[in-house]
Amino acid sequence: MEDFSPYELDHARALDAQDALPTRRAEFHVPQHNGEDTIYFTGNSLGLQPKAAADALQTELDDWAEHGVEGHFRARNPWVSYHERFAAGLAQLVGAKPEEVVAMNALTVNLHLLLVSFYRPEGKRTKILCEAKAFPSDQYALASQVRFHGGDPETDIIEIAPREGTSIIEEADIEAVLRTSGDEIALVMMGGVQYFTGQWLDMARITRAAHAAGAICGFDLAHAVGNVPLQLHDWDIDFACWCTYKYLNSGPGAVAGAFVHRRHVQSTSFPRFEGWWGHNAERRFLMEPEFDSMGTAEAWQMSNAPVFNMAIHAASLEQFSSVGMEALRAKSLRLTAYLEAGIQAVARQNNAQLEVITPADPDRRGCQLSLVAHGFGRELFQTLTDAGVVADWREPNVIRMAPVPLYNTFEDIARFVRVLKSATENN
Ligand SMILES: *Cc1c(COP(=O)(O)O)cnc(C)c1O
Repeated sequence: MEDFSPYELDHARALDAQDALPTRRAEFHVPQHNGEDTIYFTGNSLGLQPKAAADALQTELDDWAEHGVEGHFRARNPWVSYHERFAAGLAQLVGAKPEEVVAMNALTVNLHLLLVSFYRPEGKRTKILCEAKAFPSDQYALASQVRFHGGDPETDIIEIAPREGTSIIEEADIEAVLRTSGDEIALVMMGGVQYFTGQWLDMARITRAAHAAGAICGFDLAHAVGNVPLQLHDWDIDFACWCTYKYLNSGPGAVAGAFVHRRHVQSTSFPRFEGWWGHNAERRFLMEPEFDSMGTAEAWQMSNAPVFNMAIHAASLEQFSSVGMEALRAKSLRLTAYLEAGIQAVARQNNAQLEVITPADPDRRGCQLSLVAHGFGRELFQTLTDAGVVADWREPNVIRMAPVPLYNTFEDIARFVRVLKSATENN
């Protein structure tokens, strides 16, 4: 018999009570199932609503009602400079200088805008190196950019797949391609944390290899931001973009983010799609015909701020700055290890083939575990759902679970492990 005492609810509650980072769960709305909190493991897809969101939004609605157009200057957070609220918090969160980050648009939009500047196929150097089975939107973005430049995605996109029999991408394989065909590669573009497997790539190492080959290196951080500690500036990454409705809890379709390394922000050596909110703020309202760049990542910002959705993003970022990524990551490691050990105990107890395809090394993953339950199929997922587990199912057979350190608890995980145990008995 396996020892399931660590997954007794009392034991789990004691772990929660004693943890070095007390949970912030009370600051969130947790969806209910049969009168109880769901076991919400989909913060990697849509983070929970911070209770502070409603007030933050109401503030802007009130200021609009009271001031009309004058709210641009008289609102409590003047809308004309609203986006400036984000530079410090985002910089801290992703390890950047404030002039390297900007909150704008949506993720795929930002990816395209950055590719306009940073994917410039020329001569023999036309190819993009990316991960196999990247998130579909990223695949469409890359392929359409290649076609936009007159290339052929069949030959101009090189995908790095996991090694045979594994789900893990080896950084050494990326380096090997860059060593042998580096002079054909214009851009290396990867997911920082892979959405399907939860693998966290060694971003600094990949960037070094890309630069050694003369290529630009960018990352999609949809599953990395707010999940793992990042040092985009020091890792020398050229550009990055992310969404904020996953780990950053900023609400469906919330404003996204972008990073451009300092060495590029003032450059005029590449094209960029521009608009008035990228223009020198001092002279923005002189309505001059010639674009005068902000000289920061804001130069990529085209439009004035979507205040209502940004209000929630600001409230969420405050939570992140008050807790700090370091403490969150430490707790995340504890929660995910507890979940992983629970799954393994269930597998042994029930003699079930529950395979976690996420790397076992905590340095190569964030909080998410991707589980393949061999021989179970979708019914198992349905059983979990019926028991109040909110996880997600990704074809062909993966259940993704993300215990999020801001609001998930040891108790959530213990409840899940008990549900999994009974759902996989007598298989
Ligand atoms: C979630 C996610 C997206 C979603 O793109 P949107 O433009 O926000 O709809 C794109 N790429 C990756 C890697 C993602 O994880």
